Amino acid sequence: MIIKVICPNCNAETKLSLAESNYDGLFRCWKCKKAYILVINNNNIEYCKPLSDEEYGQQLEINFK
Ligand SMILES: [Zn+2]
Repeated sequence: MIIKVICPNCNAETKLSLAESNYDGLFRCWKCKKAYILVINNNNIEYCKPLSDEEYGQQLEINFK
């Protein structure tokens, strides 16, 4: 499943490859490097909220330790 995410900051399009139709996690724009919390439900983007660098670091610790 490929989901297209348009960065709210710079409008760059990113194609995310998902194994499932739901996703809840981090997304970082390849172009402007801005990080977002991204929530996808049934292949629809429900939520895309910018993260500060500080929050991004905390999320990384939670998700990847
Ligand atoms: Zn961007």
